[in-house]
Amino acid sequence: MPQAPALIGKLAESAMGRRARVLDVQHPAPGFVELTLHASAPPGGWRPGHEIQFRVAPTLSRRYTVRTVGEAKGQTGGEPGGSGPEAERIGVLAGTESQGPGATWVSRLRAGTETVILAARHRPLRETGARRLYLGDGSTLGTIDAYARVDEQSLVAIEVPEPAVDALAARWPRYHFLPITKGPGDALFFWLERAAGEGEFARLDGAMLLGHAQSIQRQRAALVDSRILPRRAVTTKPYWSTGKAGL
Ligand SMILES: Cc1cc2nc3c(=O)[nH]c(=O)nc-3n(C[C@H](O)[C@H](O)[C@H](O)COP(=O)(O)OP(=O)(O)OC[C@H]3O[C@@H](n4cnc5c(N)ncnc54)[C@H](O)[C@@H]3O)c2cc1C
Repeated sequence: MPQAPALIGKLAESAMGRRARVLDVQHPAPGFVELTLHASAPPGGWRPGHEIQFRVAPTLSRRYTVRTVGEAKGQTGGEPGGSGPEAERIGVLAGTESQGPGATWVSRLRAGTETVILAARHRPLRETGARRLYLGDGSTLGTIDAYARVDEQSLVAIEVPEPAVDALAARWPRYHFLPITKGPGDALFFWLERAAGEGEFARLDGAMLLGHAQSIQRQRAALVDSRILPRRAVTTKPYWSTGKAGL
């Protein structure tokens, strides 16, 4: 529901709305905003990877993802699903590359801002196999980290604006950060072809492809057509599409 009449938005808010307060705003790299919020939990509690929506205007909402639950700044390994105050402290990592209403709204948040988050019970993305490949762009880094951080064997490659590469690589040394080249997904596709050619995917048994819709299609075709993975082992979720506002 990226665009809906104000009345429908109000109804969704009364059914799924969670009161939230921004506790902290950081800028971990150019083009990224990291939020820590205190938010009342939906049924089942907050989980890393939980999908949420912010109402960024009376008729507009945008989707984001909970990266962490229960972590204070610079700490790892909170207790998702617990019942203490930590269980209502969530972290969200937003990319602002789109420069649309969602990115603008997120960039204006300050510590102390009160807002409402729309959230239902968590429904995790399907994960296949033990050694997984995760591909995405800046808008997916929070989601991918929510899933891949607990999986030491996973291979992660994320395409981000060039000025953000060094800061993100220093924070997440296990992940490959690739600078955006010509079009969205080109750098990632080049990396994919090279890694496949060098046999890096030999023991792979699952993949999660998130982010730019057209890039995901290309990546899945490459993995399936070259028989690296069967189609059913590849989970996809588009986060944005060229020329389309909100997904
Ligand atoms: C389930 C789900 C979870 C998501 N979780 C997160 C999250 O945790 N963090 C996060 O940062 N984003 C996340 N997103 C993506 C975020 O909702 C989109 O990037 C959103 O479209 C941005 O809204 P906007 O109003 O700024 O731009 P829009 O109005 O949607 O788009 C404006 C223009 O920018 C383009 N555009 C949109 N997104 C991007 C982009 N990332 N890079 C380059 N161009 C873009 C569009 O094609 C359009 O031309 C998620 C999306 C989904 C569907």
